[in-house]
Amino acid sequence: MANNEESRGLKSLFDWFANRRKSGSTSLERQERDIADGLWHKCSKCGVLAYTKDLKANQMVCVECGHHNRVDSDERIRQLIDHNTWKPLDEHLRPTDPLEFRDRKLYSDRLRETQDKIGLIDAVKTGLGQINGLPIALGVMDFRFMGGSMGSVVGEKLTRMIEQATQRRYPVVIVCASGGARMQEGMLSLMQMAKISAALQRHKDARLLYIPVLTNPTTGGVTASFAMLGDITLAEPKATIGFAGRRVIEQTLREKLPDNFQTAEDLLQHGFVDDIVPRTQLKNILARLIALHQPVLTTPPMVLWETMSLTSTAAE
Ligand SMILES: [Zn+2]
Repeated sequence: MANNEESRGLKSLFDWFANRRKSGSTSLERQERDIADGLWHKCSKCGVLAYTKDLKANQMVCVECGHHNRVDSDERIRQLIDHNTWKPLDEHLRPTDPLEFRDRKLYSDRLRETQDKIGLIDAVKTGLGQINGLPIALGVMDFRFMGGSMGSVVGEKLTRMIEQATQRRYPVVIVCASGGARMQEGMLSLMQMAKISAALQRHKDARLLYIPVLTNPTTGGVTASFAMLGDITLAEPKATIGFAGRRVIEQTLREKLPDNFQTAEDLLQHGFVDDIVPRTQLKNILARLIALHQPVLTTPPMVLWETMSLTSTAAE
């Protein structure tokens, strides 16, 4: 009897340790599950865990180290555009596979899988909206969609948006995030560079403002075209901006490149970028730049003339 009780006591002690070990591992599992659920976010730079809600409130910038975590296009639009003013453009445009391209898998399968996975039709969102009450045309590239690569849909949507902006006399802002042209579309992706650049030239001829915002990473054909055609070029801190990849250049030159090579900071020093703006200040800085570059004659000439004649009568 006593033996039995003793063994029961021993057993419960084992149970207690076993349970404790189990609960320890479940809390770790729970933490991992919470990260997977998106409740918590681990900073890829300093490793600090932050509550996703707090991180979102700080526009996905780590409060600990200031690292600018990648944001998707929806989140970026929420950050920049005034509430309830966003009007998306050309949402119906879908990519096709005219070359029936195949690498490790068929391009058409890759497209379908990516669309199902992230719920986007292609790698850019375009639309009209307001930024602190000022109308703008905004394009936001989404790196999640095949590395933000520029195919026919990206080119067509950006071109149509710039043309709308030219007609309406709106400034254009494009938030760039791209690995470059979409090689699965061959030269059809490369010709987008010329198409977008031509639309931007017509926008410029109409004396309208264009500001590209270069985020991590802005490379390849995007850098070689619309990312570098801004009247004012802004970049996010520590963003990688370049044309060819660092490894390719190192292998070609057989030279070690400096650590800050192809960073926003290095490009600012060399005049490619006009300013580096932390994301938390981006909306206000953009709004101020746009306000400064608003056309002077916003009032119709007739009203202006009447106001002038009234003031001159009052002066008499
Ligand atoms: Zn951090």
